[in-house]
This record gives sequence, C-alpha cells and structure tokens, in this order.
Amino acid sequence: MMTTPTTPYEETALCANLGRRDGRLLFAGQDTVELARQYGTPLYLMDEDRIRYNCRLYTQAFNRCLPAGSRVLYASKAAAFRQMCRIVGEEGLGLDVVSSGEIYTAMTAGFPMERVYYHGNSKSDRDLAFALDAGVGCIVVDGVEELLALEAEAGRRDARQKVLLRITPGIDPHTYAAVSTGQVDSKFGVSIETGQADEFVKLALGQPHLSVAGFHCHVGSQVFWEDVFERSVLVMMAFIRHIRDTTGYLPEELDLGGGYGVRYVQSDPAIDIPRKIASVAETLAAIARRLSLPVPKVLMEPGRSIVADAGMTLYTVGAVKEITGYKRYVAVDGGMADNPRYALYGAKYTCCNAGRMDEPGDMLCDLVGKCCESGDIIQPQIHLPAATQRGDVIAVCTTGAYNFSMASGYNRLRRPPVVMLQNGRSYVAVKGETLEDLVRLDM
Ligand SMILES: *Cc1c(COP(=O)(O)O)cnc(C)c1O
Repeated sequence: MMTTPTTPYEETALCANLGRRDGRLLFAGQDTVELARQYGTPLYLMDEDRIRYNCRLYTQAFNRCLPAGSRVLYASKAAAFRQMCRIVGEEGLGLDVVSSGEIYTAMTAGFPMERVYYHGNSKSDRDLAFALDAGVGCIVVDGVEELLALEAEAGRRDARQKVLLRITPGIDPHTYAAVSTGQVDSKFGVSIETGQADEFVKLALGQPHLSVAGFHCHVGSQVFWEDVFERSVLVMMAFIRHIRDTTGYLPEELDLGGGYGVRYVQSDPAIDIPRKIASVAETLAAIARRLSLPVPKVLMEPGRSIVADAGMTLYTVGAVKEITGYKRYVAVDGGMADNPRYALYGAKYTCCNAGRMDEPGDMLCDLVGKCCESGDIIQPQIHLPAATQRGDVIAVCTTGAYNFSMASGYNRLRRPPVVMLQNGRSYVAVKGETLEDLVRLDM
C-alpha cells in the first residue's frame, strides 16, 4: 500500500495505512477524495483494521511476556463510541472508563461489564451508584473520600466491589516535564512519598464491602522516554514489598496505566510496542526476584496508541487568503470544534492536500478553522501545494485519539460523522449531527 513519495514532503511514510495513487491520498487503501465526496466534510475516518492491528500488538505481547490474567484495557476516553467498544471487546481487551457516560456507552454496546475499570479523581455518589448498578468490574479508587463513599454505596447493596487503589509513584516531573500525572503533587491518586498511600491502603484493606485487587498508577501521556514504565515498575514493586511487610497484604494486580506515544509528525520516534512490553516484563521479573515477590498480573491502559494512527480528518477548503507581505491562511470547514488539540496544547499534525499528492508542498501557510477565534488553528506553518484552492480536500493525519472525544459544539458547528474503513468497504459508526440535533434539548 505504501508508495515511494516523489514530492518534497513524505506524509505517507508516517504510517503503513497511508498511501497514494494518481495524485490522491489513500487511507486504509481507499481514495480519501472519493470518501470526502461520498460522506461530506468535515469527516472523521477510522481504519478498523488498524485499530485491530494495534490491539493485537498489545494482546500478543501480553500473552507472550506476562502472567496469565494480565490484561490490556483500552482507555476509552481517547475515542468513546459504541462501535469502538465492540471492536476492542471482540479483540479481548478490557475497557477503561472515566464517567457515567462512558459506562453507559459501553453497557449499551453490549461490552462485558466485568472487564470495565472505572477511573476518575472526582466521582460523585451518583456516579458510584451508577457504576455499582451497572456491574462495573473494578473501580479505581482515587482517594480516601471516594473510598468511604464507595464502601457506603457497596454496603447499601450488600455487595463486595473489586477495587484498585490509585497510587502516585512520584516520577520526577523535572526529568519528565511533558509527562506529568505521576508526580508527587498530581491531582490524581495518593502519594507514596508523603506516607499518605500507606494510610490509604490500610484503610482500604479494612473495608468490609471492598475487595482490593491491587494498585494502579499512570505516569502520563505521549510517553517516549525509554524507561518511564520501568521506573514505575521499580517504584510500585518496592511499594508492594513495603505493604506486604507492614500489613501482610499481597496485591494480585498491578496496573501501569497508559501513555505510549504515537507519531504525529515524521520527527517523532516510532515506538515498538511489543519490544517495550517485553522490556517492562523483564524489568518486572527481575525486580520481583530481587524483592522475593511473585510477579503480579499486569494491566496496561493504552488509549492513544490504539486509535491515533487509525484516524484521519478530512476537510474542504473554503478560502486561501494571502495577506500580501505577511502570511497565508488556508481555511477549512471544520476547526477547533472537531479538533481542539492545537488550540489546547500546541499539538503537532501532518497535513496534506488529499487531491494534489503529486504536487510539491511549496506554499507555507497556517491551516485554520471556521470558528470565531483567532486561536482556531489546526496547524500553523505547514506546506501545501501552491495550487491549493477553495473546494480542495485537506487531510489531517493521526486524528483518531482525542479528536472526536474532545469535540465541542462551539459556534453550533455540527459534530462530524465517524466513518469506519474496513477491508475495502466503509460504514458509518457515528452519524453526523443534524441541525435538528443541535436544538433537540433546547426548550
Ligand atoms: C488518559 C489515561 C490513559 C490513556 O492514556 P493514552 O496516553 O491515551 O494511552 C490511561 N490511563 C489513565 C488513568 C489515563 O488517565
């Protein structure tokens, strides 16, 4: 499917599901200009085969390297809709959810609820009650208040709820500036360094309606550094040993969180997921031996690395505006409402003119949206062919994670449909919003 680029830019080398034919951009082997014509723009495309391929990179490596009962959980916040739940469910993954809305989505998709893990640093009593009634398999408890609220809800139902305890491993934010949810002052979890995690675990072990399966940690997202997960393993295994020595309790499960990075632009490194998992498994086995501990069942929670490169967004150009002597804008029919990631945190993307793949990218421009905000930029300083004009189809690559799920209704733009590509065919997985949908809840 991949062809050798002859243009000065080489977008199609970003991922194996990109290609080109007759000057057109191919995604999952299909002509993107045709797809834009058929479904309209803006349009989210998702490559189902790539999603399944990414799932299997994890599940096969897990089966090879980690103890039986270890499990890959798809972090559904990266892209949460029913068909995603069905696909990852069929691939044997569990599911991470962070809200009643994600629980409801999974439940109504027929996802096996015993494989659902429920996260979040501020679950309300109603959220906890909803999760218990939905039969969520495991609740990842973020702190003492939630622990006591959950004990009360479980007690009222005379249930014994499986939980993991979220621990903050204190991975140094100065060493890993961009990946910071695991540092000591994070809003998530309970810190080892302050001694609070000790108290938290002891309190949890004494709750009659909670069954503590183990510990959870999550260091951050878009992780490329070689040893982040290995460092988490070291810190968490030392904590497990300490807890065993002081309480006699030995956890069955260790959840290492999510976060492997993906390539948005060619200068990003490509991560070899199976090799990474093998390395984490080796570290885990070695440290377990050194600390005379059994190797726990391992959980990982990839979101981005399952869906990011399985996604692409197509737009139609509305205007090419040259401010003589200053700069050029290429404005499209979507923007920060369907992809807020540049506006939020300066995310990088690879963009191209889907119908002019044989023309050199010799025009420097900012790709901007149609929202009433100067910050509505999809990507600044990109190169598109000079002939780019109104009506052309622009593709933004690697939009499968945190685009659809972060979309808003700003300016009353309609959320685009999600169209799945699978083995040469296409089908609608999420319908696009209609004008009627926009006013449906208005009184
Ligand atoms: C966001 C998140 C994930 C998924 O992170 P990715 O970077 O998308 O892999 C997993 N676990 C937790 C607790 C998270 O908050």
